[in-house]
Amino acid sequence: MNDADTMALRHFRLSRDSAGIAWLEIDCAESSVNRLSGEVLAELTQVLDHFDHRPPAGLILLSGKASGFFAGADINEFGALDQVDLVQELIARGCKVFDRLAAVPYPTLALVHGHCVGGGLELALACRYRLAVDQADTSFALPEVMLGIVPAWGGMHRLPALIGAPAALDMMLTGRAVDARKAQRLGLVDARVPLRLKRQAAAQHVRSGKPPRRARGLGRLLNARVLRPIMMRQTARKLDERDPYQHYMAPRAILEIWGRHDGEALEAPDLLREMTRSDTARNLIRVFRLQERLKAFGRPTTEATEVQHVHVVGAGTMGGDIAAWCALKGIRVTLQDQDRERIADAQGRAHALFIRRIKEKREQRAAFDRLIPDPEGYGVSQADLIIEAITENLEAKQGLYANLEPRMKPGALLASNTSSLSLQVLGAQLREPQRLVGIHFFNPVARMQLVEVVETDVLSPAARATALAFVGKLSKLPLPVKDAPGFLVNAVLAPYMLEAMRCVDEGLAPETVDEAMKVFGMPMGPLELADTVGLDIAHAAGQQLAGAHSLPKCLEAHLARRELGRKTGRGFYVWKDGKAVKKTPGTPPSGLSERLIAPLVERTRAQVEHGVVADADLADAGVVLGTGFAPFSGGPLHRERHRAPPVHPI
Ligand code: NAD
Repeated sequence: MNDADTMALRHFRLSRDSAGIAWLEIDCAESSVNRLSGEVLAELTQVLDHFDHRPPAGLILLSGKASGFFAGADINEFGALDQVDLVQELIARGCKVFDRLAAVPYPTLALVHGHCVGGGLELALACRYRLAVDQADTSFALPEVMLGIVPAWGGMHRLPALIGAPAALDMMLTGRAVDARKAQRLGLVDARVPLRLKRQAAAQHVRSGKPPRRARGLGRLLNARVLRPIMMRQTARKLDERDPYQHYMAPRAILEIWGRHDGEALEAPDLLREMTRSDTARNLIRVFRLQERLKAFGRPTTEATEVQHVHVVGAGTMGGDIAAWCALKGIRVTLQDQDRERIADAQGRAHALFIRRIKEKREQRAAFDRLIPDPEGYGVSQADLIIEAITENLEAKQGLYANLEPRMKPGALLASNTSSLSLQVLGAQLREPQRLVGIHFFNPVARMQLVEVVETDVLSPAARATALAFVGKLSKLPLPVKDAPGFLVNAVLAPYMLEAMRCVDEGLAPETVDEAMKVFGMPMGPLELADTVGLDIAHAAGQQLAGAHSLPKCLEAHLARRELGRKTGRGFYVWKDGKAVKKTPGTPPSGLSERLIAPLVERTRAQVEHGVVADADLADAGVVLGTGFAPFSGGPLHRERHRAPPVHPI
């Protein structure tokens, strides 16, 4: 009798080979990725029931999706996070299936290609063996912490036992992914196997009779119960440094559950209750969903043309780094600047980026070869997309466009990285203004995921689609915005920074103002941010966006002394070795953070009302990703909607 005959499976394909090995291919119905939903877990249970009666010689779990093994649990099932009983039930259900898989008498193996994330990794950890298909996109991660939750399906127990406490805690507390090579080094997988031999390797390995891997050496020692308190104290200190105001509970919960409950989440019901009832988890999941929404804007549509060659004009801070990022992502880039030295500097930075990001020497070389210095601008006539990132000056940009446009190939796109100029004005003298789009990257390009895609009224749908898909191809998150001063992100940052400067005018120390916002949950205070951006740039943005208000006196005074912030070594702070030298902050007056946030919230709302961004959720996504606005708050407008009404003293 055939296995498949006995069961109706929607998400799995089951077959047995002549050696009696069962091959269980996971291929979730109606989805491009595999997700561990309740239905998938139920089918897996059904399969295990079946094997209790007809045990295979070995069981190999693999994915039928090109995208990878598993993309984690189905977060749509986390909807009722505040219903603690449901959460506990969800955890118990997963643990039960995985514990059962871990205890079966026949050998089991997870054959992993692509992403192996969250619950997917916990499933793989419950197998006796794991093999990683040796390809660039194979990666392993427990990213639950980023959603404000914990890897509760056995990951907190099995991962430290497998790779030792320090490496496991690092993965669980940061959510960072490791690639196939690192997974092998850590002992997370038994071996890496070439794609074309993956099935033979899996069939051989599952019947090898080898003992399952266990952590060795110091990693194993530090996972021993007696030594855990030491590891806990050390790690807690690091967490306090990283999150001094305790905005995030999940990392501390992971540490506690590992240290005191051997990684068994259900043994810490109070902690689970507190964590799942807090707004943080719900808001972080909200931000994750919004990121997925932005990601969807970047998926190619039928209207989009694939960009294979980009020509970048301007090899300064932004243009140089944009060119490097494009080359890193496999696109051929020609890089032009009137100053050859700027091109050479940009190549130097690109080289450092490639070495940091690409493991294989050959591929580093290939990325470098894709980045072609082109001071004469020969690439203009061949490029599918030209990105202009020259100095922020209207006449200079218009003059450049007049020179570029006649040489561009038909259908090619012209994009500006301008932060503050109107696209409509920039394109006023173009013959085809319908192909001018804003592609506004943020600084530093390699770190900032958000890219605003700026539309004018005349932008053609095909050009819009191509620009969005291009940003998606760069693995960035595109946010469509309308051509309006400051677009979204800079428009909301300016009044916030100006308000902070007004506090300095009123006599507060910059340290005190910045500290108030760090307590609030910002990664950096507004004055340190203004110094980092450059006070000349903050001034220009302020002039453009301050409306009827006059600019703060302290800003004018710094500019009069040519103190432009970090780049000149002095601004609101003195800067040494790229760091602001700070005095101890004073106690912020009560209500300071709300005062500073108010103009940011108001401007965010105005940008939605004026249609600069399509809706409030997208505005929240843009502000969180573009300014670092406390992600655990769910974004400025969400926070405002859910905030308890202020209590006024009588
Ligand atoms: P930058 O001064 O570092 O670089 C500008 C480069 O353009 C210089 O290398 C200059 O030699 C070159 N250039 C000027 N005119 C040219 C011309 N006609 N032909 C060829 N090269 C020319 O400036 P940046 O900070 O990289 O800013 C570039 C653009 O990006 C601006 O529009 C700015 O508003 C925008 N932007 C800047 C930031 C930021 O944080 N710096 C962030 C987002 C967007």
